[in-house]
Amino acid sequence: MAEYKAPLRDMRFVLTELFDYDDINQLPGCEDFTPDVVDAVLEEAAKVCEEILFPINRSGDEEGCTWDDGVVTTPKGFKEAYQTFAEGGWTGIACDPVYGGQGAPKSINALVEEMICSTNLSFGMYPGLSFGAYAAMHAHASDELKDKYLPKMVEGTWSGTMCLTEPHCGTDLGIIKTKADPQGDGSYAITGTKIFISAGEHDLTENIIHLVLAKLPDAPKGTKGISLFLVPKFMVGDDGSLGDRNAVKCGSIEHKMGIKASATCVMNFDGAIGYLVGEPHQGMPAMFTMMNQERLSVGIQGLGLGEAAYQGARAYAKDRLQGRALTGAKSPDNAADSIIVHPDVRRMLLTAKATNEGCRAMGMWVARALDTAKHHADPVKREEADEFVQLMTPIVKALFTDWGFDNTNLGVQVFGGHGYIREWGMEQYVRDARIAQIYEGTNGIQALDLVGRKMPTKAGRYLRRFFHPVQEYIEANVSKDGLGDFVQPLAKAFMRLQQATGELAQRGMKNPDEAGAAATEFLRLFGLVAVGFMWARMAEIALTKQDDDPDGFYKAKLITAKFYMERILPQSGALFSQMMSGSSTMMALDEELF
Ligand SMILES: Cc1cc2nc3c(=O)[nH]c(=O)nc-3n(C[C@H](O)[C@H](O)[C@H](O)COP(=O)(O)OP(=O)(O)OC[C@H]3O[C@@H](n4cnc5c(N)ncnc54)[C@H](O)[C@@H]3O)c2cc1C
Repeated sequence: MAEYKAPLRDMRFVLTELFDYDDINQLPGCEDFTPDVVDAVLEEAAKVCEEILFPINRSGDEEGCTWDDGVVTTPKGFKEAYQTFAEGGWTGIACDPVYGGQGAPKSINALVEEMICSTNLSFGMYPGLSFGAYAAMHAHASDELKDKYLPKMVEGTWSGTMCLTEPHCGTDLGIIKTKADPQGDGSYAITGTKIFISAGEHDLTENIIHLVLAKLPDAPKGTKGISLFLVPKFMVGDDGSLGDRNAVKCGSIEHKMGIKASATCVMNFDGAIGYLVGEPHQGMPAMFTMMNQERLSVGIQGLGLGEAAYQGARAYAKDRLQGRALTGAKSPDNAADSIIVHPDVRRMLLTAKATNEGCRAMGMWVARALDTAKHHADPVKREEADEFVQLMTPIVKALFTDWGFDNTNLGVQVFGGHGYIREWGMEQYVRDARIAQIYEGTNGIQALDLVGRKMPTKAGRYLRRFFHPVQEYIEANVSKDGLGDFVQPLAKAFMRLQQATGELAQRGMKNPDEAGAAATEFLRLFGLVAVGFMWARMAEIALTKQDDDPDGFYKAKLITAKFYMERILPQSGALFSQMMSGSSTMMALDEELF
C-alpha cells in the first residue's frame, strides 16, 4: 500500500522562501495567521490528512457510495472522519470569521487543500463543494440568507452543492431548462433535473443547501437569463431549526471511473421551494465571482494526486530490485539493483517531481494574488492582483490537472504491473485524477477562455501582468553567474510565448478557428513558461543556500530545476510549431470522413 507524508518542507519553502509571507500576513484580515500559527495549521492539517483521510481512501474507493430510494450512504468511516474534520474547524478554515470561519488566506488554504486532495479526493469533494456554495452565497446572497445559512455551513453541520449541469447541457449553460416560478411570497418553485451533482445527497450532514441555476419566466435567452437560487433539502425555520423535507430528491447516483466515494447525483427538483441569490438573471456573474477560487482548487486536485502518486513511486523505485545499472552493478550484494538506478525510471520520477514542485510554486504565486486582490488596502494593488488572477486561472486549472493526470499515470508506470493491480493504490490515483480535467469547465474550455477572453481583455492588459515581471526577471538575471542554465532556457521559451501571442492575436482576428485550433497548445506553452519562471527563481534561491544544506534540499532543487529546463521546458518548441501550423488541416476533414 502506498504511503503519504505531507511535503511540509517544500510547502514552507514556497510559502516563506520563494515568496515573502510577510506580505500576506500584513494584509488586513490576515494578521492572525502569523508564521507560528501557519506552522501549527500546516502540521495539524498534515496529521488529519495522513491519519484520518488517507486510511479511508482505498476502502472508500472499493466500497463507493450506495443509493436506496433517494438515500445516499457514504462508505464506512466517512461519517466519523467528516465529524472529526468539521469539529477541527477545517470546513470553515477559509471562511469569514463573521460567520464562524477562521479567515485563513488562500495562500495557506491552498496548501491544506493539496494535502486533502493527496490523501482522499473523494472526501475532499464534500467540504470542497460546500465551500463553493458558501463563497457564492457570501458574495451575492442577502444578509438574511447569509445569517440563516452560512454559520451552519461554515461549521460543517450543513453542506452545500453547486447545481449547474443538466442532461442536455454542461458547457453550454445558456440552454438550461430548470425553471423558477415566483410564488408571490418572495420564494420560488424550482422545477427541473440536474445531473452530475457532487455531494447532492449523502449522510454526512443534517442538511444540504443546493445552489441551483434556473430560469425565471421572463428570462432573456442564453446565459443572460440565468438566475441563482438557494434550495435547502430541509426547510429552515427562523430560529434555524429544521422543518419539512423540501421537494428535492436524489434520483440516482452515477457509477463512475474514479472518486467513487464522492456521491455524484441526479437531483430532481419538483417544485422545490427556493430563494433568489443576488439579482434576477445574474446567476452566471454570481458563479463567476467564485470561479477563480474554485478553479485554483480544482487545479490543486491535480497537484495533490500527482504528489501522492510521486511519493508512492519514489518509495517503490528505491525498494524494487530489477536489473542492473547500465554502468555496472550498484548493489552487487543484492540479486539486482533497485529500479531507481535506471535512467528511464529517473526520467519518470523527475518529471513528476519537477512538475509537482513547479505547480506548487505557481499555485502559491496565484494564491497570493487572490489574497492581495481580496484584502489589500490599496485598490490599485487589488485590481492589478485581480487581473493577474483572471489571466492565470485557466492556466492553473488546465495545466495542473493535465500534469496531475500524467503524473498519476507515471506513478503506475514506475510500479510496472504492480501499479496496474489495485493492491498498491496507484491505479486509483489515475482514475481519481481524470475527472479534474473535465469538471469546473473542461480543459479545452479553459484554453478557449485564455485565448478568447483573457488575452484580448483591456487590449492585453491582463497579459502584461505576467509578461512584465517575467521580462524584467530575465533581463536582470540572464547574465548572472550560475544562473545561465536556468534563465537562458526560460528566455528562449518566453520569446516563443511572446511570438505565439502576437501571431495568435492576428490570426484569431481574421479567423476564429485559428484561435480555437491553437488554444490548448497556447495554454500549455504559457504554463510551461510560468512554471519555468518559478523554477528559475527557485534555482536562484537554492544557489545562495547550497553551502548550508544538511538535508540536500537545495541540491535537489537545483538538479530538478535543471531537469525542468533541459527536459520539460523545451516542449515549448514543439508546441510553437504545432500552433503555427494553423487550423486549415484540422478543419478540412468533412464530418462524414471522421
Ligand atoms: C464526477 C463529476 C462531478 C461533477 N460535479 C458537478 C457538480 O457538482 N455540479 C455541476 O453542476 N456539474 C458537475 N459536473 C458536470 C461537469 O461540470 C460537466 O461534465 C462539464 O462541465 C462538461 O459538460 P458536459 O459533460 O455536458 O460536456 P459537454 O459540454 O457536452 O462537452 C463535451 C466535449 O465538447 C467540448 N466542447 C463543448 N463545447 C465546446 C466549445 N464551445 N468549444 C470547444 N469545445 C467544446 C468539451 O470541451 C468536451 O470535450 C460533474 C461531472 C462529473 C463527471
